[in-house]
Amino acid sequence: MKIDLTGRVAVVTGASRGIGRAIAGALAAAGAGVVVNYRDNAAAAEATVAAISAAGGQAAAVQADVSQAEAADRLIKSALDRFGRLDILVNNAGITRDTLILRMKDADFDEVINTNLRGVFLCTRAALRPMGKQRGGRIINLASVIGLIGNAGQANYAAAKAGIIGFTRATAREMASRNITVNAVAPGFIETEMTDALGEATRKAILDTIPLGRFGRPEEVADLVCFLASDAAAYITGQTFTIDGGMVMT
Ligand code: NAP
Repeated sequence: MKIDLTGRVAVVTGASRGIGRAIAGALAAAGAGVVVNYRDNAAAAEATVAAISAAGGQAAAVQADVSQAEAADRLIKSALDRFGRLDILVNNAGITRDTLILRMKDADFDEVINTNLRGVFLCTRAALRPMGKQRGGRIINLASVIGLIGNAGQANYAAAKAGIIGFTRATAREMASRNITVNAVAPGFIETEMTDALGEATRKAILDTIPLGRFGRPEEVADLVCFLASDAAAYITGQTFTIDGGMVMT
């Protein structure tokens, strides 16, 4: 199936690196204009934009901390200012502050909830205004298998990711009459800087739990997101899709 997003406009949060960068590249390759959001890493965001431009696509980098309401509003407005509309929001920005719960500081909990869950709420709320006026849109939220099965040392992250799944379902129900679909993608372990931080022993232990015997690639997650952003997925809403090499089977 060839996915055609010509004339559509997307915002991808946290698109300077990792999965977000791959999603931005895939949406642009399918024809969408893409706002490449980042928080700190301007050079990496500009590299994402340069790669998209070199491949013949259209993109612009926009700094915004998604955990701040004003910044989230400004990010969504930047898509309207630069490209004139907004069709697709991919809430991808995410962080980890892993530690066992007895050692978890208030800040470890708050920072993860604020970026990973509050950021999804703030960007979604801002995007629903233009999407509602257009009577159509696609929102895709990056959850995680950790939000489904939990993980020792990630209570903050698991809570945020499980929260995203509930938020996805509620928003999907609320916005269905406006032809706005809302879905979540729950990756397993994907090769990015987030998983580079894992030690060799942890990587080996994780690999033993993955039936397909390898970590995933950001491009594999991007293909699923592109499908959900396309017309082919018009009848899918409120769902969570795991992409994890078979790690979690329900
Ligand atoms: P990553 O390589 O660590 O990249 C994180 C991205 O998020 C960067 O672009 C970063 O921007 C941005 N970011 C962080 N905080 C932000 C904020 N407050 N506002 C705006 N942008 C912010 O992460 P990744 O591995 O690609 O993960 C992407 C998403 O997939 C996350 O939601 C993650 O939880 C989820 N996920 C990842 C995996 C995995 O195995 N990698 C598995 C399941 C789910 P800067 O570059 O400016 O810092």
